[in-house]
Amino acid sequence: MLVDTHSHLFVEEFEADLSEVIQRAKSAGVSKIFMPNIDLASLSSLLNVCRYYKGYCFPMLGLHPTSVSLNYQEELSEIKTYLKEGHPFVAIGEVGLDFYWDKTYAREQMGAFDEQIQWAISSQLPLVIHCREAFSELYACLEPYKSENLSGIFHCFTGSPKDAIQLMEFGQFMFGVNGAVTYKKSVLPETLKVTVPISRIVLETDSPYLSPMPYRGRRNETSYIVEVEKKVAEIYNMPIEEVERITTENALKIFAER
Ligand SMILES: [Zn+2]
Repeated sequence: MLVDTHSHLFVEEFEADLSEVIQRAKSAGVSKIFMPNIDLASLSSLLNVCRYYKGYCFPMLGLHPTSVSLNYQEELSEIKTYLKEGHPFVAIGEVGLDFYWDKTYAREQMGAFDEQIQWAISSQLPLVIHCREAFSELYACLEPYKSENLSGIFHCFTGSPKDAIQLMEFGQFMFGVNGAVTYKKSVLPETLKVTVPISRIVLETDSPYLSPMPYRGRRNETSYIVEVEKKVAEIYNMPIEEVERITTENALKIFAER
């Protein structure tokens, strides 16, 4: 039993063949798929997919950092209306900081992130965090909330060993590992091996992005998670079944079903 903790199967890349993608995920042994939102516009397709595959696909609520711009406060207040009594969301995500693509709205990104951290606290939901080239800023944003009992996932972790050690201080957070770990030039295997124990690892795909080898460059899908699992087994020098058991347990510690 595997869990894909991060997959965007509700985007248009999957419109034509989603049922086959889901079928292949089930055949690959995936028992649950957790889906991070992107922005206000993506919410209806996210919710439709999760309603159709209820009990298999689970939605999160959030505004992605690359979708943050000057009017973010308006967008956030509209998104927040979905967080009403009886909502289906299992996490606040994906949220965070991305200074790799664009730093124009760095301040706004930090403002949006801070507000969504507060949503996670007030609704007692885990946080699924996206961070690219902004690890010291990420730490600075999270630090004031250290005593708040926050939990979550540092999705697609790409930081240095130093970043990993610092973020491990947030003891109820897991590190999400995806296809990027299979790339030839990746230093992530070494970083993980020396800094992050398997008890802090969850598997993800980030579909349709970041296809693992040997599918790199093609559309990613949940069933390819087995390639990530294989690589993680190699890194931690463990049988595949053990990786599966531990990472699934880790994932289910974060996401409580609704
Ligand atoms: Zn994502």
